[in-house]
Amino acid sequence: MKRIGVITSGGDAPGMNAALRGTVRAAISRGAEIIGFLHGYSGILAKETMSLDSMSVGGIITQGGTILRTARCKEFMEFAGRERAVGNLRELGVEGLVVIGGDGSLTGARAIHEEFGFPVLGVPGSIDNDISGTDFSIGFDTAVNTALEAIDRVRDTAYSHERIFVIEVMGRHNGFIALEVGLAGGAEAVIIPEVPFSLLDICDTMLAMRQKGKNSSIIIVAEGAARASDVKDFIHKHTGLESRYMVLGHMQRGGRPTAFDRVLALRLGAMAANRLLSGYSGEMVGVDGNKLVSHPLGYVLTTKRTVDPEKLLLAEVMSN
Ligand code: ADP
Repeated sequence: MKRIGVITSGGDAPGMNAALRGTVRAAISRGAEIIGFLHGYSGILAKETMSLDSMSVGGIITQGGTILRTARCKEFMEFAGRERAVGNLRELGVEGLVVIGGDGSLTGARAIHEEFGFPVLGVPGSIDNDISGTDFSIGFDTAVNTALEAIDRVRDTAYSHERIFVIEVMGRHNGFIALEVGLAGGAEAVIIPEVPFSLLDICDTMLAMRQKGKNSSIIIVAEGAARASDVKDFIHKHTGLESRYMVLGHMQRGGRPTAFDRVLALRLGAMAANRLLSGYSGEMVGVDGNKLVSHPLGYVLTTKRTVDPEKLLLAEVMSN
């Protein structure tokens, strides 16, 4: 392989730039040429390219977001769109593609690998950390630390005013971020989509805490489990305790990636380029413990990643 392509696609995640740096510099060091496509799969369809040399990925390791931009591309969901995209790639002499993105983007990569035998290598980039085949996806650690900083600040004011604060974090389908920040932020309750919850029980807990002399509380809720405003209203109505809510929203997606995410992204990006150039395809790179691994996309996309039961139990015990 002499020329490969790279995209960042789907939801952005801090550390995607570092992954790009890893991919580009590893490819160049092996004598390959690398072309970036802007706006994910849309850029392949529109032939929006960016030639990437070693210098073009200089100075981006500190930046959140992605210099290649990202997008969602409806046309690529259809066979005809994918056929056209693969046609464009071949026309441009691109012999393989590194896809940095979440499970949707990886599903698209798997499709062109299986339908057209087009060589692809996936890199897990998602703040949600819900991708199987890796302990961590790029951006999760940064998102957790960003949310945590906000929560730590809110705790100060919650304490001073003796209030309950309900804080909504990202996680439409899972509670990975919520559980992690709940543990790290010392939350009194964590509400996630995977575990049934009773708001009345939470009210009882809040009242019991007041009786013990604990006059402020932080409740973390994953957006997919409940709206923070509804939880706050319910608690106020049933306990009479002064409550506030806050939705952290998109701030969790941005900002300087943590050292952990930068190093993870560099390692995964470089490994993806190396494997692609060595003839591997249809895989996603990841970490298992601190070891780099690579799994077939078929396995990654059909295996559900679940929250760690030990952490769930710990959150429960710590909130007492
Ligand atoms: P993420 O990669 O963050 O999970 P999305 O689910 O929005 O984000 O997927 C990003 C893009 O990947 C989509 O806009 C589409 O172009 C492509 N994609 C997603 N799902 C599929 C699919 N089932 N088949 C083909 N392409 C897909």
